Amino acid sequence: MSWYRRASAPGLGKTSNRRRSSASYSVAVGRRTSNGSSRIRSSSKGHIRDFGDDDIEVFLPPLEEMPTVVGYEDVTFEMCTVNPPPAVLVTEDDDASDEMGDLKPFTELPHLSEKEIRKTLIRHADSRCAFDKDAAREMRIVRIDYRPGYKYTLESFTETRQVAWSFEPYTGGPLDEVGPAPPGPWEVGGGVGRPKPFHVHCTCLEVPHTDLLTTCKACYGVGSRRCTACSALGWERCSLCLGDGHKISMQGHRERCFRCIGTGRKKCWKCGGETIAVCAGCSGTGQIRCFIALNINWSNHVDTDILDPSDALPISEKLEYVKGHLVFQDERPMLASASFPVKDLECIANSLLEKHQRISSGEKLLLQRHGVWAIPVTCVTYEWKHKQKSFFVYGSKNEVCAPDFPERYCCCCAVS
Ligand SMILES: [Zn+2]
Ligand SMILES: [Zn+2]
Ligand SMILES: [Zn+2]
Repeated sequence: MSWYRRASAPGLGKTSNRRRSSASYSVAVGRRTSNGSSRIRSSSKGHIRDFGDDDIEVFLPPLEEMPTVVGYEDVTFEMCTVNPPPAVLVTEDDDASDEMGDLKPFTELPHLSEKEIRKTLIRHADSRCAFDKDAAREMRIVRIDYRPGYKYTLESFTETRQVAWSFEPYTGGPLDEVGPAPPGPWEVGGGVGRPKPFHVHCTCLEVPHTDLLTTCKACYGVGSRRCTACSALGWERCSLCLGDGHKISMQGHRERCFRCIGTGRKKCWKCGGETIAVCAGCSGTGQIRCFIALNINWSNHVDTDILDPSDALPISEKLEYVKGHLVFQDERPMLASASFPVKDLECIANSLLEKHQRISSGEKLLLQRHGVWAIPVTCVTYEWKHKQKSFFVYGSKNEVCAPDFPERYCCCCAVS
């Protein structure tokens, strides 16, 4: 079980003040619980370590005494993001411009016939008790317009690395002591723990050749410390009678507290009355192993935009949530600008690609993919009782949007 603290400052600081004064504990790594005790998570094994009432600062080895490790000169006990090495420019293949050819024309997508439209409308009217079923069956369909909507999605899969000094109780075993050339922050791991592309994940590793064995600062190597749970008194107040020694019974009589036998005290849960307790920093061994911990986070940045048919406004908001037909998809280490036959769609795509080029410099771009879904939209103009109105059938599952559909009272909604 080991410890480190995470900071939000990007990059390894160049400040001479190497110890930071932040007192906030990372949610992912260590935090104060609601009862005020300090809990931390092991960097390498994921264990939760409980420091009880002690301040975590008590257990931190002095940063000034930590060795200078080549490539990690500015590492502190707070997690700091290490910027990735500059990206190597990848020369795109000549087929980079083939994206346009992959986009199928909308005309290849299925078009609904009048018979299919009426069938869809009747099914929809049957599911809405207020709709006039006769209208669905008998209305005259005047015109059918097919208009595609497009959904564009861009994903950028990135990796972030953070480093910090960490420590855990030393209970024996070989050490991988600080060597002349530990691997750099972006050389550690070799893909260990990396998830499938576009899956969010994190892992914690130890940087090889950074072990340092040192005496526990909190107990000066003794292995035990003054008990902080009872302030070295050896006892604590009885929680049943709140220290009174007596309590009022159900019948209203003053009785001796059975838990503390009238003393109002009980032995300290932590030290058992000894007034000293096992040191939480070294688990009683008197020694701690310090090492540099490496935190790797894989993130997926996802952005979606919709190009709706310009005059099908009643359904614009609905298109984001329906399925369409995938008409284009591409995946590359870094996507160049998009080129689509629909110019408005091309603008949307290039705008999002530009946005993803501004992803934090602390993140390494591993892979990008984007896709276009064509969403069929059919605008149907109909005539019913000498009035012309329209409704929409959209999505690959033929959803219906008919805000002006003729209604009539039924058993559920009739007003008596
Ligand atoms: Zn009591
Ligand atoms: Zn105690
Ligand atoms: Zn100790």
